[in-house]
Amino acid sequence: MTLSTSSQQPLALPADLPALDKVLHKPELTPAINQHGLTLVTQQLRLLLAQLRTRVLQQQLTTADVDPAYIIAQLIERLNALTASKLKTVINLTGTVLHTNLGRALLPDCAVEAVTQVLTQPTNLEFDLASGKRGDRDSLIEELICELTGAEAATVVNNNAAAVLLMLNALASQKEVIVSRGELVEIGGSFRIPDIMSSAGSKLVEVGTTNRTHYADYDRAINEHTAMLMKVHCSNYAVVGFTKETDLSELVKLGQQHQVPVTVDLGSGTLVDLAQWGLPHEPTVKEIVDAGVDLVTFSGDKLLGGPQAGFIVGRKSLIEIIKKHPLKRALRVGKLTMAALESVLSLYRSPELLPERLTTLRLLTRPQAEIQQQAERLQSSLQLAVGGDYQVSCAPMHSQIGSGAMPIESLPSFGLVVHYAGSDKAGRQIMQLERWLRNQSQPIIGRIHKNAIYLDCRCLTAQQASLLQETWSATRL
Ligand SMILES: *Cc1c(COP(=O)(O)O)cnc(C)c1O
Repeated sequence: MTLSTSSQQPLALPADLPALDKVLHKPELTPAINQHGLTLVTQQLRLLLAQLRTRVLQQQLTTADVDPAYIIAQLIERLNALTASKLKTVINLTGTVLHTNLGRALLPDCAVEAVTQVLTQPTNLEFDLASGKRGDRDSLIEELICELTGAEAATVVNNNAAAVLLMLNALASQKEVIVSRGELVEIGGSFRIPDIMSSAGSKLVEVGTTNRTHYADYDRAINEHTAMLMKVHCSNYAVVGFTKETDLSELVKLGQQHQVPVTVDLGSGTLVDLAQWGLPHEPTVKEIVDAGVDLVTFSGDKLLGGPQAGFIVGRKSLIEIIKKHPLKRALRVGKLTMAALESVLSLYRSPELLPERLTTLRLLTRPQAEIQQQAERLQSSLQLAVGGDYQVSCAPMHSQIGSGAMPIESLPSFGLVVHYAGSDKAGRQIMQLERWLRNQSQPIIGRIHKNAIYLDCRCLTAQQASLLQETWSATRL
């Protein structure tokens, strides 16, 4: 709250405070009452007047501070702040395409349309139109998932963490699950393989060492309590150097010999070979299924480019058990997710059109020259906005795929780099600039590296770029 403390104004007395009713009946407040309703406006006004009264009693306010017009202006500001959405759209200039903290994959327009449809109209979510009987929501997309992955059956839950939890709970509760010591992953946001195991009631049996796990290590650990051999994709780290990972095909054979299911938590789980677009190769779900693995779990909103969801695909007999488990009901997805998933998965039927249609892939394959042009167009307006204390330049930089996909690979990109031009306290000045960008009405999220701000333009849309150009030309730090 900004208060005018001009010394020419006399101090306000409690009697100078306007009565609640008097303010409420001012015509200037009518639009706010129409917008927010009388109840909320009255409640907020009462609160504001009580706070003003306290400050009047402490002799902190002048008569101008308690002028009804000024009170109304403050009230409207408060109402707007109170009712503004807390979930805001931001401009992602971090260079990380699938940024977990910024909501991961962005949906293509076709998925947005599909979601809009089911938001406002009844659907056959769990109604079999052929028989007129109750249906199974998985059946809406199960065939499509099987077609794209080569799996016999599939089920969908809230996210991949839920998929792993459900798979373990349904198939390995009170039993042992063998995992290599090199794969005891922690994903950000407290998803840790050992913890998810204990939550599922499974006993984790660690085998091998951090860098090397052999076939014999798995073989030795199998006993009558073993319910699963599990491999976990090292999503956000890499084990390099003197390493040994047991071949999936060997593990599959071992599982078959002992009749123990072999499962893979693939993490990001792409459905197409990304190498065809010059991106690093990531094993596809189909490759893993074809290797003979019994179950594969993966995310919907990482490389797949869809909404938040978790998939379990693989052997029909196991999927049947999982579908009947009570946790499946607790972790199921809603119709919005179903609509978006069906739409995004359908795009994979035309793989050659994916870089155009699937937002995630479009961003990942964006040509560096195009990103460079965008950065160059923005340079002068940002320089104008931040002033001579800072120096804005264009520079090549490296984007990350994010969300634990290929942690050591990076994509050549381009963006703006802002240095502090002065000699003193550069760190603090850069932090202040970062805060200024983050507090814009459309927050701009970059990253700080070695006393400079990096604004990677890979994920910047043409519309956002025009908006930035406009705002930066009109505002000053
Ligand atoms: C990302 C990831 C998860 C968690 O997936 P969510 O969809 O975020 O729940 C689990 N395992 C691996 C290997 C991952 O990469």
